Amino acid sequence: MKAADPANRVLVFTQFEDVAYSPCGIPYVHGKEIPDFQSLFLADKQAYVDAGIEISYETTVRSIDTAAKRVHVEGVGEVAYDALVVATGFDYKDPGVPGSDLDGLYRVKNIRAAMEWDKVLDTVKRAVVVEASPLGLEMVTALAHRGIETHVIDPHPWALGDLCDPDVVAPVQESWAEMGVQMHWNTKLEAFLDDGAGHVRGVATSGGELPAELVVVATHKVPSNALAVAGGLAIGSTGGVVVNDHMLTSVPGVFAAGDVCEIPHIAGVPLQGLTGSHAYAQGKVAGFNAGGGDRSYQPVYVPWATVAGKWIIGGVAFGEVAAEALGMPYVVGRATGISRARYFPGVKPVRVKLLAEPGSLRLIGAQMVGGEGIKERADFLGVAVKKGLTLHDLATMENVYSPPIGALNEPIAVAAQDGVAAAARGA
Ligand SMILES: Cc1cc2nc3c(=O)[nH]c(=O)nc-3n(C[C@H](O)[C@H](O)[C@H](O)COP(=O)(O)OP(=O)(O)OC[C@H]3O[C@@H](n4cnc5c(N)ncnc54)[C@H](O)[C@@H]3O)c2cc1C
Repeated sequence: MKAADPANRVLVFTQFEDVAYSPCGIPYVHGKEIPDFQSLFLADKQAYVDAGIEISYETTVRSIDTAAKRVHVEGVGEVAYDALVVATGFDYKDPGVPGSDLDGLYRVKNIRAAMEWDKVLDTVKRAVVVEASPLGLEMVTALAHRGIETHVIDPHPWALGDLCDPDVVAPVQESWAEMGVQMHWNTKLEAFLDDGAGHVRGVATSGGELPAELVVVATHKVPSNALAVAGGLAIGSTGGVVVNDHMLTSVPGVFAAGDVCEIPHIAGVPLQGLTGSHAYAQGKVAGFNAGGGDRSYQPVYVPWATVAGKWIIGGVAFGEVAAEALGMPYVVGRATGISRARYFPGVKPVRVKLLAEPGSLRLIGAQMVGGEGIKERADFLGVAVKKGLTLHDLATMENVYSPPIGALNEPIAVAAQDGVAAAARGA
């Protein structure tokens, strides 16, 4: 809003004690890969005071009255606005089983809470992570890295079951097994078990009971939409707030951004619960427009990547599981290459799978697993999908060859060549 017009008065209300920290780093502090939580803070509170942004911490907005253009803020009263941005984020989906309010259930989100939970982790010998979601993946790896006996339960047959292809996630699961993680696939949560004093003592599942001193609830992200619903904003099929390309909701003067809203995927499917980088980009558009500016936000292709076990996995748009679920025909090209020259110390495997539209061979998605360089490939392939590049384009792409950082044959190009050959064979 300040970027649109420095004279804008900007009021921010947050239930949390802080703003401008990276929740994305929390699992790595728990896993002892980052030494402390302090390094996750991006700016101190004074920086916002200096920028003229008025932030009220630990303050809850209770309701929105869009007709009167005001919000009701607990402990403050009615606050009038000219333009409003709703960015209330996400909640973990309620598993809908008994015991959801027990102590010892950790829903990773707020950094101050994470600091307290980190002390608890020192006392935990055995933990269960409920669902191998993207956040679940990070927490499984972190807990195992910390030396805690870690179990993961998930109703799918493999990790990231509704996003990732089994061949891509298989090395991750092998590395978890090496780290001592016990995986319980096709396993439904039935209850959180009470120790009789209101603290969790484990979980009941479709495969039996698992004792644990701590349970991480990493269920699917759902939009924290209570305020938006009560305020009468249109809600889409995912439960997210519907926005147009200006991040404007169904109500004039009310914008939304981040995990609370749903965004069209390029295939026309609405998506909710994207990444922090999406929330950041959407927030800039919503804030700029709320401040009187004129910016737009495009449908997304969702490049993604994460560290899981001893591997990095990632991709863009569709993998085979998603394409099949949507009934999309595709041609696939596969390759296993290397990240550096084969003789250079530290060389890692890079497995690439490319999906393309039959006929045109236009790229429609990719999934990858490897030891390094996955993030950069996902970013590049995101642009490639967006710009309509084909397997022919990628098969003949130029690439950097420099022994410490890149191999002679780029795995993306080799996978594209494989896809072109598969298409020619009619495979
Ligand atoms: C552990 C963890 C790891 C993650 N890792 C990654 C990663 O590696 N990469 C990535 O891209 N993304 C990651 N994410 C996701 C990313 O953090 C979120 O997508 C992003 O923070 C969403 O931003 P947001 O502004 O929509 O919501 P949030 O950052 O959740 O902010 C919501 C805000 O709304 C406030 N609020 C809600 N209701 C009210 C109310 N009634 N009154 C006042 N204030 C209210 C809250 O206090 C909070 O300040 C991770 C998230 C977590 C929790």
